[in-house]
Amino acid sequence: MFPNFIGGQWHAGADATDNVNPSDTRDVVGVYARASAAEATDAIAAAHHALANCQAMTPQARSDALDAVGSEILARKNELADLLAREEGKALPDAQGEVVRAGQIFKFFAGEALRVAGELLASTRPGMTVEITREPVGVVSIITPWNFPIAIPAWKIAPALAYGNAVVFKPAELVPGSAWALAEIISRAGFPPGAFNLVMGRGRDIGDVLLSDPRVSAITFTGSEGTGRKVAQAAIGRAGAMAKFQLEMGGKNPLVVLDDADLQTAVNCAINGAYYATGQRCTASSRLIVTNGIHDRFVAAMRDKLATLPVGDARAAGTVIGPVVDAKQRQQDIDFIALGAREGGQLVVGGEALEVVDGKPGYYLRPALFTATTNDMRINQEEIFGPVACVIRAADADHALAIANDTRFGLSAGVVTTSLKHAAHFKRHLQAGMVMVNAPTAGVDPHVPFGGRKSSSHGPREQGRHAVEFYTTTKTSYVQP
Ligand code: NAD
Repeated sequence: MFPNFIGGQWHAGADATDNVNPSDTRDVVGVYARASAAEATDAIAAAHHALANCQAMTPQARSDALDAVGSEILARKNELADLLAREEGKALPDAQGEVVRAGQIFKFFAGEALRVAGELLASTRPGMTVEITREPVGVVSIITPWNFPIAIPAWKIAPALAYGNAVVFKPAELVPGSAWALAEIISRAGFPPGAFNLVMGRGRDIGDVLLSDPRVSAITFTGSEGTGRKVAQAAIGRAGAMAKFQLEMGGKNPLVVLDDADLQTAVNCAINGAYYATGQRCTASSRLIVTNGIHDRFVAAMRDKLATLPVGDARAAGTVIGPVVDAKQRQQDIDFIALGAREGGQLVVGGEALEVVDGKPGYYLRPALFTATTNDMRINQEEIFGPVACVIRAADADHALAIANDTRFGLSAGVVTTSLKHAAHFKRHLQAGMVMVNAPTAGVDPHVPFGGRKSSSHGPREQGRHAVEFYTTTKTSYVQP
């Protein structure tokens, strides 16, 4: 059994869970410990105890430790990508990309650990100086979803440790394998015991402890909107000091295709953005908003392309679309596909569940495309989180922009156009944290801010230099000599 890591020691856990391969449900990736509430409390106590040592670690020592983690991830990228694809179902090339990104993130924050800066200002009062410094925020609870099993943990753990915090990390219960492999690498990197703790388990068993313990100063969460709201309530509503919190949640990301778009670029962006990683990305282009003049050509090209996309075992050569992550998520996708048809959408291709592919029983689903949908339909307002996209016809560019922004979400948004004027206008007016011009809505760089607006996100941005805002707190000192 793969154990939890608490206070620098490996602990078997109160219970255990099978990690099942969604590409072949006969294959158990491993048996992983499931922590109890008491063990989660132990992890918080260990992190709290380690804080002084974390803060005493020199920036150079932190940098070296993070660099070692990044180097090992990159050196083992094929093995880690294989594990990721096996437990989550992401096609191997996508899994490799994710692992490399995780390695790059650790390398980036190895640099940032050496660049923590302050400010020195003249005071408004005579003779006084004002100094602004950054200090670690304290114990950070890190709660992550299943769809990026190594990159999301990396982009939270690396900055937390870079800035001198102690971490309690709870990965999603569906993907403990990548989390465990990452924890094992971090356990050997040179951080003090208790600086980094791994507690695997279910949100309902240990989530409350990670949110409510007063020794936790900050909570960083990525997952669904519903759980995000619980995190916010717990962070504010708990006894004692409130916790700082940051939420990254769902998306219903628009990709606008304008009449003047290059058709091939539009199709490539839509196929990649909507269906790669089996559509299970918060940044997936689930709404394809297409203006009249290109609509029919775009739909025809999409239908042809989708019919040829290989669906299969995530680790098999040539697979583009792996399985859905589990039975529950696939049923949710199927229910939305049925709902789309009831709402009047036209399913032009895909949507069939496949029980067995190449002799392997798994949670396969052919990528589905709806046309003739309107933006007010539930399939265009609610996050499906599967390989399902809907085409919405727009009269012109202004109409397309209005539809794109008519959503509760605001994570990522894209436009495909050859017009500089349209590109500039959409870049300025799309209500989203990230805007892509002639590029898929999903797929971002590791060194720049990531996050959204409206119901997609709450709190400071993640990644890049902006991560310092969440993982540190400023102190303003007034000095009168
Ligand atoms: P989820 O909300 O079900 O779970 C996320 C994490 O929260 C898991 O670790 C889970 O165990 C934990 N959790 C569940 N209940 C909890 C509780 N009561 N207290 C504390 N923790 C609890 O989400 P999911 O199904 O794992 O992930 C899919 C969702 O994540 C989608 O909505 C997707 O859009 C979103 N997502 C967002 C981003 C982003 O950056 N915006 C990135 C990836 C995924």
